[in-house]
Amino acid sequence: MLSVFQIIVPTPYAVGPVNVYLIKSDPLTLIDAGPNNAKAAKVLEGMLTSLGSNVKDIKRIVITHAHPDHSGLASDIAHKSGATVLMHPWELKRMDKTTDLIKERLPYVIEAGVPQTVMAEMYGERDKLPRPNVDNCRVEELKDDDNIKFADGELQVLHLPGHSPGHTCLYDPEQKTFFSGDFLLPHITPNPVIEPDPEKPGQRLPTLKQYLNGLDKVDRFNIGMVCPGHGGVFNDYRGAVNVARRHHESQFNTILNKLNGRELNAYALSKEVYPNLHGWDIFLGLSEIQAHLDFLVEQGRISFSKEKGVSYYRA
Ligand SMILES: [Zn+2]
Ligand SMILES: [Zn+2]
Repeated sequence: MLSVFQIIVPTPYAVGPVNVYLIKSDPLTLIDAGPNNAKAAKVLEGMLTSLGSNVKDIKRIVITHAHPDHSGLASDIAHKSGATVLMHPWELKRMDKTTDLIKERLPYVIEAGVPQTVMAEMYGERDKLPRPNVDNCRVEELKDDDNIKFADGELQVLHLPGHSPGHTCLYDPEQKTFFSGDFLLPHITPNPVIEPDPEKPGQRLPTLKQYLNGLDKVDRFNIGMVCPGHGGVFNDYRGAVNVARRHHESQFNTILNKLNGRELNAYALSKEVYPNLHGWDIFLGLSEIQAHLDFLVEQGRISFSKEKGVSYYRA
């Protein structure tokens, strides 16, 4: 049986602290790493010591997804310990410095009708922490259905995208523990961030469809306890799945009501639904709206036409 310990690591981000999980079995493994700053490193290393381990003894770091609150410290820990970093290849690609995340998403921001001045505000606010990377680290790619073996058990790898292209959850079949990353959280629903399709150049990923399919998959699982990326552990995973479904249903209704008798682009809609966003949050608000629009289009409940490169939606 795997011994699991939750370590709460502070982050400078609005989401609050992030959870790192220590699996005390051979080989000694972390799930996620926390953000790349001195405060987070100090808390993580201090907690490892108080749990009778040492950062130098870590052999594997499994990263749920490449967002900086989860992956930032991976390279630092790997360099201190020689640990292997394991993650989905699509998340690995996002940590490669040759990947330009802003440029990749730019065509969709333009298509959404975001004005130049707002784009400047959106992209003006840059993360003060170094961009996550796995430079000079030993890395191993994870794919859906892989098994991560331990002396005392195993973790099954579940590719559950929607919040990020290669988002990975882990499941311990013996204790029925589900390490959910940002896929399933106790109080918030994850943002279906606008991303290009890694397999179909020029196309946007159907992030909300992926996410809702993932909820259906997880609903069929037998989960005893959820160990989320943020917040406390919880048991009622079907409750959390239903809260997420209801959230998206209500977003569909909001959008359909706003489109009643009108034609709007994604940015105009996002400004009506979220009038008070600033900086990077404008992009996240836009992502939320665009993902719902894409889903409604696919269902045939709304349609759109393009004018001067901008998509306008109607119910
Ligand atoms: Zn995330
Ligand atoms: Zn997160």
